[in-house]
Amino acid sequence: LSIRRQRQMCIRDRDDDGIDRENIKRTLGHSTTPFNFTETESVDEALSALSVNNFDIILLDYRMPKRDGIELLLELRNSENDLNVAVIMLSNSEETELALECVRAGAQDFLLKSEVSTSRLQRAIVQAQTRFELEKQLHISYQQAKKLAEHDTLTGLYNRYSFEEALQLNILQKARDNSKLALTLFDLDNFKFINDNYGHHIGDQILIQVSQRISDCLRGNEVFARLGGDEFAIILTNLHTVDNATRVTTRILNSLEAPFNISGAKIHMTASIGIAVYPDSTLNANELLKHADIAMYRSKKLGRNQICYFESEMQEQFLQRYQIETNLIGAIARNEFTLHYQPIVNTSGSNVVGFEALIRWNFQDQLLYPDSFISIAENSRAIVDIGRWVIEQAIYQLSVWNLRTTTKYTIAINLSSVQLTDKCLVQCIADALSKYHINPALIEFELTETTLLENSKQTIKTLASIKDLGCRIALDDFGSGFSSVSHLQNFPIDTVKIDKSLIMASDEEKSRSLITGLSAMLHSLSLNIVAEGIENAEVVQFCQQLNIQRAQGYYYAKPLPVDDIEKNYF
Ligand code: C2E
Ligand code: MG
Ligand code: MG
Repeated sequence: LSIRRQRQMCIRDRDDDGIDRENIKRTLGHSTTPFNFTETESVDEALSALSVNNFDIILLDYRMPKRDGIELLLELRNSENDLNVAVIMLSNSEETELALECVRAGAQDFLLKSEVSTSRLQRAIVQAQTRFELEKQLHISYQQAKKLAEHDTLTGLYNRYSFEEALQLNILQKARDNSKLALTLFDLDNFKFINDNYGHHIGDQILIQVSQRISDCLRGNEVFARLGGDEFAIILTNLHTVDNATRVTTRILNSLEAPFNISGAKIHMTASIGIAVYPDSTLNANELLKHADIAMYRSKKLGRNQICYFESEMQEQFLQRYQIETNLIGAIARNEFTLHYQPIVNTSGSNVVGFEALIRWNFQDQLLYPDSFISIAENSRAIVDIGRWVIEQAIYQLSVWNLRTTTKYTIAINLSSVQLTDKCLVQCIADALSKYHINPALIEFELTETTLLENSKQTIKTLASIKDLGCRIALDDFGSGFSSVSHLQNFPIDTVKIDKSLIMASDEEKSRSLITGLSAMLHSLSLNIVAEGIENAEVVQFCQQLNIQRAQGYYYAKPLPVDDIEKNYF
């Protein structure tokens, strides 16, 4: 019902209560203020009327067909644009409980239909509207006060008070679910210098922009707070390894690298970060904060613009990882990678039929094995370039070897899941094949099951394109993870490599039965089988019994550098 602006009235009523509506309209017709009405007969009809028109008041019947009036009331008051219409409930029954329930649900007044008279209704409307306006004001000031109490006015982030509350709460929850929590403290480096030299106004702008850049590095569900001055904090939850915290904080440091453009001035800003991990560091929220603080001061002392963990073990893990990640950049150009080749042998005659290319990294006078750097390279996507290098190098090597012998050796190349998302992968393989005039059928790409599980649509497409080139696909490490038969059917797989953990345990009865069953299944699907991790003659015999055609392992040869392979096999 609208009194002044819209001049509409909205009466919701039960189907068979048209008389009540008529009665109300007639009653209001006698009043001194002219009214406009809109009548609806169900909650849903009312909601759609409300979505297209503005009303000054709703006269709402408690009893409605399907959904009752109170449901409409609750829906209105809980909606985004709540509190926008005053509501008077109308009812036949005289229950005080009912009246109270309606007022609690957000109605401004409650009238019995039997009491409705022109003056009573007119007064109720005016009073309900006044009350509604007051409630709205109260709500707005409550929201403002809450925001002031919980948020930092400059950046809009949480303030220290709500941050400490959230920390306590998170720790209580952690105690139940066993995952880790990283408390991350940031302090901007040399911020005082900015304030002193450019003035507080510029300092404030920096704080705002810093908080925006950091927000962009987060998923949005983390507690991110400004604790005061130039100090910020983030609570990272649900961590399974500390690497996640390293990844987020590194991203944050990187995000600060570009200069801040403020009122024409280009200002560089870095941060020192300290991290303490619950429950490893302590079980107490205040102590955790203290530990993160100590770690942050360590960052400053070590030269700023860096990350320090409070826990020494994590610091070591982090530094190792960090060192590897930063040194992977440019490692190809510095020619630090090399491929070792492990012979793959025909089990019946023990003759070499091909080689698996396995990457090694000459890093600071050590030869690093793939387990210590491939996952890091996958995370930073450095694997894309490294993978291309491996493909080109292995295919080149095969072309050199195959010129020297009449036997046409095959080469197995490992692919990581990240490489399958590389749009240029297939082209890169095709280029190498034509550059070195290699028969594609001699190349077998090895993937693990987890790779197949990730982004499987794209994976299927890429695998199909690799198959179209004429190359072969092998499923690596089968028997170590899910070992799902559906993968063997859904993906274009030629070969299955039985994982070394299974083969190496083949002296145990259980593993023997498993390998026997597995190889029978693979044979029935007409798949080629390679057994990896052959370390003694007994296993070779076992493989021969099972008709496993190919094998590789230390029993035959370890992965060797090119020179050794050439010495031994050419
Ligand atoms: P993988 O593809 O399953 O390779 C076989 C691994 O088992 C190799 O370890 C090899 O040295 C080891 N091995 C072979 N025979 C035996 C044996 O008889 N006994 C034992 N105990 N181990 C044996 P490596 O070279 O350390 O490679 C580890 C993994 O790193 C590989 O597992 C592969 O998944 C990955 N990898 C290696 N090179 C590359 C590459 O160029 N790109 C990608 N994306 N991953 C690679
Ligand atoms: Mg492999
Ligand atoms: Mg393997």
